Amino acid sequence: MCKCQVYEIIIAGHTKKIQDFHTLTYLEKKAKVGVEIRRTKYFMSKIPISKIIRSKRKNIALVISHDATLIVRAPMRTPLHYIEKLVEEKFDWIERKMREFEKRPKADKKTFSEGEEFLYFGKKYKLALTNGLRIEATEDFELLFPRVFLWRAHHRMHDWYKKQAHKEISERTKIIADKLNLKYSSLKISNAKTNWGSCGPKNSLNFNWRLIMAPEGVIDYVIIHELMHILEKNHSAKFWNKVAAMMPDYKTARKWLRENSKVLTLE
Ligand SMILES: [Zn+2]
Repeated sequence: MCKCQVYEIIIAGHTKKIQDFHTLTYLEKKAKVGVEIRRTKYFMSKIPISKIIRSKRKNIALVISHDATLIVRAPMRTPLHYIEKLVEEKFDWIERKMREFEKRPKADKKTFSEGEEFLYFGKKYKLALTNGLRIEATEDFELLFPRVFLWRAHHRMHDWYKKQAHKEISERTKIIADKLNLKYSSLKISNAKTNWGSCGPKNSLNFNWRLIMAPEGVIDYVIIHELMHILEKNHSAKFWNKVAAMMPDYKTARKWLRENSKVLTLE
């Protein structure tokens, strides 16, 4: 991180942070009577851009990724200094967002010890080590886990979650699709890092296995979302209206997923 000099000026009640001395003097010269300009020189640390993704898009988007780093999506030929300037201008917003992300609940690293909690359908299940040979979620919110699996515990648990995700999500998707009279070509369970679901151009559906850790309403929201992409291959107002018609409260599920994505993990 580099330390940069920053000037703060107030123009018509709005505070602006300026890093470039020439811009500052220019603004001061241009300022009319009654416009307050306060020059506060201070230092701030520059926000590092973790990735710049260039594409055929028309505008620049600043995205705070799930690990609280800054990603910039920019048109092909946008000069780097222009991107850096924009990041500086949006300093307050970026910093606020990053702090929000850092405050979000995180999952602890799993140790597979007796009584440790694992999420399944949005509920906490306590790990109970057994002498059996299969992993099973019980009605008393226990997750039975064979001792013989302990040496490859993470791998075994991942497989179990993925199998459950396939079974449960396939069933639910079929029921919802039938109700909506929508046809999809295939359904797969993925290991994607950030995507919860997707719908391909030929209506093949993909769902992230980690979804099975989320509450039912949230799982249904992702299923409905992807199914609606059979009708609308975009995120237009028309698309969201269709989602809302099926699930009026979808925004709650969407928000939950955004805020709890770090908890839905086995890492
Ligand atoms: Zn979508």
